[in-house]
Amino acid sequence: MGAKIARVSQGGSSESELKNLREAGRILKNGGTVVFPTETVYGLGANALSPDAAKKIYEAKGRPSDNPLIVHISRLDMLYEIAEDVGSDALMLVDAFWPGPLTMIFKKKDIVPLATTGGLDTVAVRMPSHKGALKLIEAAGVPIAAPSANISGRPSITKGRYLLDEFEGKVDMIILGEDSEIGIESTVVDMTEEIPLVLRPGKISQSDIFQVISTGDSQKLKFLEKKLEDISGRHCGKPARSPGMKYRHYSPKAKVILEGPQKSAEQVLNEAMSMVTEDGKLLYEEPEVMVLCLKKNEELYGDHAYVLGEDSEEVARNLFTSLRMMDDMGVKLIISEFFSGDELACAVMNRLVKASSNI
Ligand code: AMP
Ligand code: MG
Repeated sequence: MGAKIARVSQGGSSESELKNLREAGRILKNGGTVVFPTETVYGLGANALSPDAAKKIYEAKGRPSDNPLIVHISRLDMLYEIAEDVGSDALMLVDAFWPGPLTMIFKKKDIVPLATTGGLDTVAVRMPSHKGALKLIEAAGVPIAAPSANISGRPSITKGRYLLDEFEGKVDMIILGEDSEIGIESTVVDMTEEIPLVLRPGKISQSDIFQVISTGDSQKLKFLEKKLEDISGRHCGKPARSPGMKYRHYSPKAKVILEGPQKSAEQVLNEAMSMVTEDGKLLYEEPEVMVLCLKKNEELYGDHAYVLGEDSEEVARNLFTSLRMMDDMGVKLIISEFFSGDELACAVMNRLVKASSNI
């Protein structure tokens, strides 16, 4: 049977929208699955406290069962229901960034089934800021496990129309909203370590987190930064340690190549356009190669330019949809500029590095 399809805007407060949200809430409460918009990317939700409901998410996504789900809540008391040891750092981060694109990992309470946490004794929790998402969780009355709504390994979805191809017939309801505002998934930060460590970069950066928990105390800030340096040789573009990060991710059908310090995107493009097959034909036709770039560099690539935006915020917002559009356009090779300059650009590069690797 096909999924019920409904539309809910950010505000989500007209009578028909509220009716749809109530129906979606009922589906979730009764163990069903609902795809819904959030400010980061679309999520595929089910009751986080029901092992059978959580299993449906893994099935619909084709996701490996040891890759844990993020649990979405609409009120702070839900956090205390599912997480142990919510300390003062966490509460400062709640104050600063919730509702919003920050996921925190805590030791889990027994009420959270291992099916939701991929067998781990920790649980990842987020309170989204998208008003429709908050109303949906309220309507369900239970915490909602919701990974990104995409078939495992494919780019996350930030534009509703891509949900229909991927989830029609596989979930009970699909709620279409506006395009996702942020465009990349939440920052994941581990609150069970001595210092809160970012496992997956996102819009909220490691330094944003340190700023908040050091509360203007420069000694504390220095201590945190020194600790971070000791713990890892982390740097921009290097995939972080979140369990899900070991899997193939974000991959469009096209091959993805990133420009590097040795070779600019322009050089990669020129080389690609002169490659020949064994029988002497050009490997790529003109429209089969596109370069993801900043607006200011558009002219370097002529007809091959695909502008993601003018700054990191726009690049992040357009990234996943651009990868899917390249597939629609029959592009075979995607070349991407190396985006840098701030930590959001780093988070974008983290996704592009994964999209370009063969794991
Ligand atoms: P997605 O749901 O597609 O946004 O992916 C969720 C991300 O959060 C994955 O990279 C997971 O590995 C990570 N995650 C969820 N729960 C935990 C946890 N308990 N410990 C560490 N990482 C987690
Ligand atoms: Mg995902």
